[in-house]
Amino acid sequence: MKKIANFRIVFFLIGILIFVAVFLCSNFSLAKTISTPSTKIKVESLDFCDNGLFKIRLPILMYHHIGSNPNPENTPAEGLYTPINIFENQLALIKEANINSITVREAGEIMLAKQDLSGKSIVLTFDDGYDDFYTNAYPLLKKYQLKGVLYVITDFVGQPGYITASQAKEMAESGVVEIASHTLNHPDMKQLNSKDALKQLVESKANLEKIIGQKVYDFAFPYGFFRHNELQLVRKAGYLTSASTLPGLLQYSNNRFYLFRERPGRREGQEFSHWLSVLEGEKATTTVKLK
Ligand SMILES: [Zn+2]
Repeated sequence: MKKIANFRIVFFLIGILIFVAVFLCSNFSLAKTISTPSTKIKVESLDFCDNGLFKIRLPILMYHHIGSNPNPENTPAEGLYTPINIFENQLALIKEANINSITVREAGEIMLAKQDLSGKSIVLTFDDGYDDFYTNAYPLLKKYQLKGVLYVITDFVGQPGYITASQAKEMAESGVVEIASHTLNHPDMKQLNSKDALKQLVESKANLEKIIGQKVYDFAFPYGFFRHNELQLVRKAGYLTSASTLPGLLQYSNNRFYLFRERPGRREGQEFSHWLSVLEGEKATTTVKLK
């Protein structure tokens, strides 16, 4: 008798769980909280029941330096460097896989218009505006006819290790590189009051527009740090999109201000091809272990 009673309790609890799941999936305003070491944010969509939100499968890759680390003993910085030969190999494999590279501005416009992507697409983004982007990445993007998005810290333009104003203008005019903002001086946006955070957003946009002579549309959060308030401020400052460092492949109509990004790291050859095919949602053809 006791066993039967236990079963009843278990079934009753399962029933409640199913009811709650159905209720949550039908509740459009439900939010879940994504927590990463750097950020905590409410996301108004749930992957397991996305309520018909418009979504596109669009891997956005995140790079920093392209080249070798001049100070390899500095291990935390080491992870920010992608050696040139590995980067070129990755570009060649993207090209070989017939993946269409678009800018983040194009992605934002597609999301805004709720269009579908034509074929497999990817966005290549580069944070901070280092001078090795101009010397190492830009020539390779041109060689492989792939587009890149460079998130520039505007107060650092022209300083040692960073691109110059004329390089930014040249790349913006090339049609190969979208120049986007990464604040005035790379603060942790969460630590700023709203007035100062808005200043970072508005002034960096205006400064960049003066430098390149074109409108600036997009933004990336330094360190990927933000809260709900900063998302509102990015919108208020007139940006089309902003990028986070949260991982993810599906970009939803409601995460235009915290686009998900993936880190390609130093994968190359078959390992990179396999990773790419997984990102693009293809059936894996090899059994290379993913890192
Ligand atoms: Zn940065």
